[in-house]
Amino acid sequence: MVATPIGNLGDISPRAVETLNAVELIAAEDTRHSQRLLSHLGVATHMQAYHEHNEEYQAERLVARLQQGDSIALISDAGTPLVSDPGYRLVEQAHQHGIKVVPIPGPCAAISAMSVAGLATDRFSFEGFPPAKQAARLGNLGLLKEETRTMVFYISCHRILETLKDMRTVFGEKRLATFAREVTKTYETIRKATLDELCEWVAGDDMQRKGEIVLVVAGSVKDKSAHPLRDEILAVLVDELPVKQAAKIASRITGINKNELYEAALKLKNKDD
Ligand code: SAM
Repeated sequence: MVATPIGNLGDISPRAVETLNAVELIAAEDTRHSQRLLSHLGVATHMQAYHEHNEEYQAERLVARLQQGDSIALISDAGTPLVSDPGYRLVEQAHQHGIKVVPIPGPCAAISAMSVAGLATDRFSFEGFPPAKQAARLGNLGLLKEETRTMVFYISCHRILETLKDMRTVFGEKRLATFAREVTKTYETIRKATLDELCEWVAGDDMQRKGEIVLVVAGSVKDKSAHPLRDEILAVLVDELPVKQAAKIASRITGINKNELYEAALKLKNKDD
């Protein structure tokens, strides 16, 4: 599995070039597109198309060749194969037949965008392309509303504005996100701002609706005073115990700050008296 540049041809690794030269066949998502890269690298290895429309059939044929002892490199139009790109069937079948699969790591738009996003990267969730239709997209984003990990989306430039607006509706206007466009290319643009600011900026600048875009969105920050049974738990404890003790026990049960619960318990007690 050979990663290729996402824009800047200088990002191809020496090992990738070596591999593309050494294999018997290169399976490519779009052979015409990849021909430009191979010509630039001086690689003359034969290519065959492997894309989402012939993936099932081609995977079988490629596996048959691999079983005969040939080695094959898979490349996509840009970046790392299988990351929102074809390759899954081939890798799955190769494993099934006990064929060794080797990664030749390199560029990936999601990882590149994350490395400059300035958002938490210790835990993240790769979400690929959100649905094209708005109703489905809103449903999809709705499921991610409480996601606490940083989320990475690939967005078609034709849908960037409407998608940002939907994210603003679902995640809230203050949620932070990093817009990464044309990464490693001439018009590379990286901007971190709130979803509201990004909506305004993209709406007012046509240029930001062109090219290739990754959006890295901050995860939801859990409201520390939120617990579905906070008031019920506190009410029962306040009935039976002094306010301070009620707050302490409620804090142990809910994880909510003790002082905050003390204030709430006092109010409850005063109301009861
Ligand atoms: N396999 C690729 C990878 O490793 O990143 C991704 C392929 S996916 C079909 C194409 C999407 O990746 C684009 O629509 C865009 O969201 C993102 N992308 C690819 N190249 C990019 C770049 N140079 N700058 C920003 N986003 C890019």
